[in-house]
Amino acid sequence: MKIISNKEKLLQFIQNEKNLGFVPTMGAIHEGHKSLIKKAIKETNKIVVSIYINKPQFNKKTDYKKYPRILNKDIAILKKLKVNFLYLPISKQIYPYGVNRKIKIHNFSKQLCGKYRKGHFEAIADVIDRFIKIIKPKKIYFGEKDMQQLKIIEDFVKRNHQKVMVVGCKTIREKNGIAYSSRNFLLTQEEKKKASKVYFFIKKNKSAIINKNISVQNVKKEFKKIGIKKIEYIVSKNINKLIKPYKKKNNFKIFIAYYLNKTRLIDNI
Ligand code: AMP
Repeated sequence: MKIISNKEKLLQFIQNEKNLGFVPTMGAIHEGHKSLIKKAIKETNKIVVSIYINKPQFNKKTDYKKYPRILNKDIAILKKLKVNFLYLPISKQIYPYGVNRKIKIHNFSKQLCGKYRKGHFEAIADVIDRFIKIIKPKKIYFGEKDMQQLKIIEDFVKRNHQKVMVVGCKTIREKNGIAYSSRNFLLTQEEKKKASKVYFFIKKNKSAIINKNISVQNVKKEFKKIGIKKIEYIVSKNINKLIKPYKKKNNFKIFIAYYLNKTRLIDNI
C-alpha cells in the first residue's frame, strides 16, 4: 500500500488508471468502512482510500477536536485489506483558496441533520467535489448508514460529474445492533447498551411507527426511559421518494439523531 499526502505524487501514481475506486473516510476505520473497501476492491482495478477529517463540515470545534484519530491502527487495517493507495491529504492542497460557499446541493439537505448542522452537507459536497476532481474515480463508495449524505451526494455527483458512479453500501452493525461508527470509539459500555436498546426498540416497532400506531411523542418517551436525554429527531421517510428520479417501490426508514452524553449518533433503520 502506498501512503501519499502530496496531491502531485498521488496523481503520478493514478493518472493512467481507467477503473479507479474511491472510498472517502475520516478514519478510525471499522467494519463499516471495511465493507465499502472490500466492495470497491471487487468492483474496480485499483482503489484509493482517503483519511481526511474535513474541518468545514463540523459545526462545533469540540466535535472536530475530539473526533477519534488512530492513524497507525488504520494503516495496519488498510494494509491487511490490500488497499492500493492511502491518501492523507494536505489541507492546503484541498483548499488552496478556502471553501466554496456557492456550492449548490439538493434541498433535502435542509431536513434532518441539515436542520441541526447548518452548512454540513454543503461542506461535504465541497470536499467530495474536490476529491473527485483530483482522483477522477470511476466509482465512489458511500454507506447507507449516512443515508441523507448518500442521497445528497448521489444527486450532486449525477449533476456535476456524469462519469462518476456513486455506489451505496449496506449498513454494517455490531451484534448488539449498533451501526459501526467512528464515534462509537467515544462511547462507554453503559452508553453502548443504551444505543443497542434504541436500535432494538425501533426495529421491533418500525411498522407501528411508520403507520403512526405509535406516535413520535411516545417513541421519544421510550428513548427517555432508556436514558436518552437529548433527541434531535425521529422521522420516518420513504427513501425512494426523497430525491428525483423517484423509484416506484416504497422503502420506509426511520431516521434518528440523538446524543449519548456529548456524543451525537445518527442511524436509519
Ligand atoms: P466516515 O469515516 O464516518 O466519514 O465514513 C466514511 C464512509 O463509511 C461513509 O460513506 C459512511 O456512510 C460509511 N459508513 C460509516 N459507518 C458505516 C456502517 N456502519 N456501515 C456502512 N457504511 C458505513
